[in-house]
Amino acid sequence: MRKSTFLLGFLMLAAIVLGVVGAAIPDAALAQAGKRGIENVKGDVYRFQNSFHYAMLVETADGIVVTDPINAEAVAWLKAEVAKRFNKPVTHMVLSHHHGDHASGGEAWGDGLTVIAHEKAAEHIAAGKVTTATPTKTFADKMSFTTGGKTFELTYLGVGHSDDLIAVVVRPENVAFVVDAVSPRRVPYRDFPNTDIDKLIGQIKVVEGLDFEILAPGHGPISGPQDATDMRVYVEELKAAVLAELKAGKPVDDIVASVTMEKYKDWGSRDSWLELNVRGMARWLQEAGKVE
Ligand SMILES: [Zn+2]
Repeated sequence: MRKSTFLLGFLMLAAIVLGVVGAAIPDAALAQAGKRGIENVKGDVYRFQNSFHYAMLVETADGIVVTDPINAEAVAWLKAEVAKRFNKPVTHMVLSHHHGDHASGGEAWGDGLTVIAHEKAAEHIAAGKVTTATPTKTFADKMSFTTGGKTFELTYLGVGHSDDLIAVVVRPENVAFVVDAVSPRRVPYRDFPNTDIDKLIGQIKVVEGLDFEILAPGHGPISGPQDATDMRVYVEELKAAVLAELKAGKPVDDIVASVTMEKYKDWGSRDSWLELNVRGMARWLQEAGKVE
C-alpha cells in the first residue's frame, strides 16, 4: 500500500506544482492511480483492480482461480482480501502473457497452486524476462480445465501483442478475460511497440471468434464482444488512413495533423496516444514494405 499511496501523493503534488490538473494529469488518472479494489463482474466472477491494471478472480466450490498477479505488492493485498472475503485457498493462477506489468509477482502467492501459461510465456519466464511463479502447466493452442464447477477455456491468440498472449473464458458466466490486444474504448498503447499490426488485427479476430457475453479486460471498463470488434475496426481504419497519406507522399509530421480519428474522440488516452498511434502505424507500414 505504501508505494501506491506514495505514487498518488506524488501525482497530486506534481499536479499542484505544475498547475495542470485536468491537462497533463487527467482527473480520471489521478483517481485511478494507486487504486485497488475487487468488483463483481457476474456470478462468481470478479475483477481485481490495481491502478490501471485489472486481473480476474473466480470463486469455485474448491477454491479461488486468479489470473495475472500484476506485481508482488498487489498479490499481498489480494491475498489478504481473498482470505477475508472467501476464506478459500487459491488453487490456480492463469497468466495472460509474460509482460512484466501483468505477470510480475506470481511467486508471492506461494507454492502449491497450479500455474498455467502459454508454452512461449513459460520460455520467457525461464529466460528471466519477468520475475513470477514458474508455470506448472503449459499449452500451445487451446486448453480447458474444470474446477469446483467452473470451466476455464484458454485460447492462444497467436503472435501480435507479444507471442504468448492468451484469452480466458469462464463458464457458466461466459466472461472473457482479455489483456492488451483489446482495451475497450481506449486507443491502443502508444506507438504499437514491437507489434506487427496485421498480426495484432489477427489476434483481435481470434477474440471476436470466442463465445462470450462479457469482456473483462486487463485495461479499461467491463464491456462486451462489440468492443473487440470496435478495437479491430479502429486499427484497420487507422491503418487505411495512414497508408493512404503515405502513398500520397505526405510526410509523417503532416499525417499526424490530418489523421484525427474523430469518430473515436470519446476514447480514453486519445489525447496522449493518438499521435503516437499514427507515428507507430506509419513506421510499421514503412518497415513492413506496405508503402509502394
Ligand atoms: Zn502486454
